[in-house]
Amino acid sequence: MSIPAKAILMYHSVTGKTPAVPGSFPVSLARFRHQIESLLQRGWRNAPLSRLRDPVDGPTFYITSDDGTVDWSRNVLPWCEQRGIYTHTAVVTGPWEPSPRYPLAHLIQVVLVSRSRESLRMLAEEINGRLSVPQRNYVARVYRYEKDPVRRTIKGGCNLILSEHEAKRLLQPLSERELEMLAGRFENPAYYKRFSFAEVGAHTVSHRTLDRHTERYVEEEIAPCLHHLRREGLTPSPYFTNPMQPAPGAAVEDLTTFLRRMGFSGTLTCGGEWDQHSFVIPRIDAQQIERHLGLEEYPE
Ligand SMILES: [Zn+2]
Repeated sequence: MSIPAKAILMYHSVTGKTPAVPGSFPVSLARFRHQIESLLQRGWRNAPLSRLRDPVDGPTFYITSDDGTVDWSRNVLPWCEQRGIYTHTAVVTGPWEPSPRYPLAHLIQVVLVSRSRESLRMLAEEINGRLSVPQRNYVARVYRYEKDPVRRTIKGGCNLILSEHEAKRLLQPLSERELEMLAGRFENPAYYKRFSFAEVGAHTVSHRTLDRHTERYVEEEIAPCLHHLRREGLTPSPYFTNPMQPAPGAAVEDLTTFLRRMGFSGTLTCGGEWDQHSFVIPRIDAQQIERHLGLEEYPE
C-alpha cells in the first residue's frame, strides 16, 4: 500500500460522553482516538488545515469535521486541545440566526428517528409521487448505501431533488420534541473560541445542495456564512466545505472560479484521497480511515 504524503480525514458525529445526535452515523470517540493515536505512533504528523498547501517533511494528516454538532465539539475538541492536535470544523451558520434555519439533512435525520414507520411510509409515498423516473434512479444511485427504500426516498428526494422549500413543507409540522432535538444539536459560536487548535471554516448558511445557479449559491450560502462567522469573532479558514452531493447538472467544480476570486484555497468534498494539487479536495471518510491508511481495524 502506498501512503499519501497528505491525508485529509473527514468526520461528522463522534459519540462519547456527549452522545451522538440522533439519526447520525457516528464513530465512537474511542475509535477516533485509536485512529489518531495510531497515525501518530506510525510517525504521521498533524497540521492545521489552513496550512494544507504548505510543503511537508513526511506523511501529514489533517482532521476535518462537518456541521458542528455538539457531539463532535464536546467530545473531540477538548481531547485534541490537550494534546495539541489541530482540527477543522465546517460550520453551518443558519442555526445561529435569530429565527434559526436548520439544515434540511438534519431535519430529515430527526424525522427519521422520531416518527412511526407508517407515517414515514406515507411520507415516502408522497415524495415518490413528485419524482420522475430519472430522478428516482438518481436518488437510488446516490443513496445506494441506504438499503431501506422508505429512508432512501425520504433522504434522496428531500436532499437532492425537491426544493428546500418543498421538502421542508412536506416534513412539517415538526413536533415539540423534534424542534428540541434540532435546537440541541448545533454547537454555539462562543464554544470554539476556547480552543487554540480548533479551526473553523464555512459550510454554508442552510446546508442546501449546490444547484446550477452557482452565483446565487455563492451569494446566498457562502458569503453570508463567512460574514456570520466573522461577526461572531471567529476566523474562517480559506477552505470551503461543500455540503452533500450537488443536484443533477451541477458539480462542485462549478464553484472553483468564484471561490478563488473570494480568496479561498480549496473546496473540501467527500469520497477518497486527494491528488495533493487540485482545488477540489476529496477526503477519507471516518469509516474508511483504517483501510485507506493501513491501520489496524478498530472493533466497534
Ligand atoms: Zn455537512
